[in-house]
Amino acid sequence: MRYVVTGAAGFIGSHLSESLVAGGHDVVGVDAFSDYYDPERKRENARDLDVLEADLVVADLDALLEDIDGVFHLAGQPGVRASFGPGFEDYVERNVRASGRVFEAAGRHGVRVVYASSSSVYGDAESYPTAENALPRPISPYGVTKLCAEHLAYAHGRTAGLDAVGVRYFTVYGPRQRPDMAFTSMLEALADGGSFRLFGDGSASRSFTFVGDAVDATIAAMERGGAGEIYNVGGGDEATMADVIALAEQISGTTLSVERHGSATGDVLRTRADVSKAEQELGWRPTTVLEDGLRAQWAWVAGRVATP
Ligand code: NAD
Repeated sequence: MRYVVTGAAGFIGSHLSESLVAGGHDVVGVDAFSDYYDPERKRENARDLDVLEADLVVADLDALLEDIDGVFHLAGQPGVRASFGPGFEDYVERNVRASGRVFEAAGRHGVRVVYASSSSVYGDAESYPTAENALPRPISPYGVTKLCAEHLAYAHGRTAGLDAVGVRYFTVYGPRQRPDMAFTSMLEALADGGSFRLFGDGSASRSFTFVGDAVDATIAAMERGGAGEIYNVGGGDEATMADVIALAEQISGTTLSVERHGSATGDVLRTRADVSKAEQELGWRPTTVLEDGLRAQWAWVAGRVATP
């Protein structure tokens, strides 16, 4: 198959692209190399890939989708905290406008889109573990823009026959994780002797999801997902930040210097994914335990810090 992957130079998109190529598919990668974090990291992620530098908000998407069998739409503006204040415009531009253009073009070309949504759409969820039919009530502008993209996919599905499948990722981690995310900044602090900014008292917990598991679910959604469906993609281990710090200290053999801050606006206290729908319909479930995934991320971080 010949797939477009948007956000191919990003954390998850670069792993997805590599996995598709390894599976014998052709990949046309697209990325704007935006400066939400250092674009040099994105160039490093995309080192072994062909990635076209283009912004989906203005690119000629009809030309891009010529002779394509499907689109993995992972491009977006991630991060909860920066979505408050003036940064919000980038979230609207990159998560709403760009997604709307991708959905319209895919509808015109009759190709399936698997798009990245987020557990952030649940906000402080109604119930745990959280299933896809829980009321989405995001508490960050980021979550609102991701939910908006889900609704756009639905609207184009109803009116233009768009075949779209959503995957709601729950805190993905592993090698190449974004530098604004907790695991990378924690492991970098352990590797270079800096301090880690902990928001909250360490009791916040997440269904942490290893990137290899997230990639497998995303490909399964393209191959087996129901048109118009949305699937939770969450790891099997729910762990608190305090648990992760203890594990990271054990893996690195170093004590973490922690700088404590109050809880960050927009961060939910807890996520826990109910993945039974993905198990039943995609035949997918997470297989990487937190300790193994964190070891893989530590090896990546330690390697980068040792050879800057
Ligand atoms: P990332 O920032 O590493 O990757 C996103 C990529 O999209 C970046 O390389 C960026 O340059 C590119 N991009 C942004 N706007 C673009 C545009 N207009 N045109 C072309 N490229 C553009 O982020 P990630 O962590 O890999 O996340 C990938 C997707 O998954 C995002 O949509 C994000 O919202 C979603 N998501 C991620 C997580 C997570 O834990 N990492 C959790 C939930 C949802």
